[in-house]
Amino acid sequence: MNLSHHGGSCGHSCCLRVENMSVKIGTDCILKDVNLHVHCGEMAAIIGPNGCGKSTFLKAVNGMIPVVGGSICLGGRDVHDFSRKALSREIAFLTQTHDVPPDVTVRELVRMGRFPYRRLWSGSRRKDRDAVEGAIRAVGLEAHAGQAMQHLSGGEQQRAWLAVLLAQDAPILLLDEPTTYLDVHHQLRILDLLRRINERWQKTVVVVLHDMNQAWQYADEVVVMKDGRLVCTGPPQAVLTPERLWDVFAVHTDIVTTCDGRSAIVVLRSDVSLQTSNLGKT
Ligand code: ADP
Ligand code: MG
Repeated sequence: MNLSHHGGSCGHSCCLRVENMSVKIGTDCILKDVNLHVHCGEMAAIIGPNGCGKSTFLKAVNGMIPVVGGSICLGGRDVHDFSRKALSREIAFLTQTHDVPPDVTVRELVRMGRFPYRRLWSGSRRKDRDAVEGAIRAVGLEAHAGQAMQHLSGGEQQRAWLAVLLAQDAPILLLDEPTTYLDVHHQLRILDLLRRINERWQKTVVVVLHDMNQAWQYADEVVVMKDGRLVCTGPPQAVLTPERLWDVFAVHTDIVTTCDGRSAIVVLRSDVSLQTSNLGKT
């Protein structure tokens, strides 16, 4: 689904514009000349091979690592011009890995999402409480709110992290592989939830996914990265062509029509399996 009615440069901080951005770590150029515009209310999926720079890209957008060139703007304002707290009111970021201190309950964790609104000595205000309880309800964890995080299943833990992002009440959500380590049912549950958050809570979502079919089904825009560069961006059907998937992932694919009349990507074989099967015959 394309939410192009949200599209265009609205000038608000819900739209993200990255221009000619490069990132160096030590002497290595990790991201090279990346250009991307994510419109207000859009759900964009980033895909690309391991090590191509997806996590680095999200960290740079969240102002966590310096850029050596170009700019990253929310509306018209560079992310580096925001204080840490002010930026946290604009961007909520779920990193690829996240540890929870032992015995922290779901509600206590979700409360941490309110840190950008806290003053040094203010207690928990009503608005904070409402935001926390609303976020817990939105992810369906009311019955677990008082439980320690370590006693929740992987899917429930991931929903609790989504609630932290919702409590943060930022217009842009960045999520780095939120479905990794979940079984396929719970992967889709997280993505359905994310889509609902995108539509009902009017959030701009940028999510790193490994599953190209999930990007195909859920994203308005797919961003393909390889070797620190943005290869292309556009609607899934335009971007995830068999030719491009071969170029980026070295896998042979086909687009098929499924029994419910939709389309899906089928991975036929990889370059490596081709060589292996040839070896097997000799
Ligand atoms: P992806 O998320 O696409 O798997 P990353 O953004 O994590 O890729 O990493 C991109 C490249 O940058 C990799 O080659 C990785 O080794 C390198 N890299 C990332 N962070 C660091 C770091 N802190 N120090 C050195 N190299 C790093
Ligand atoms: Mg990563």
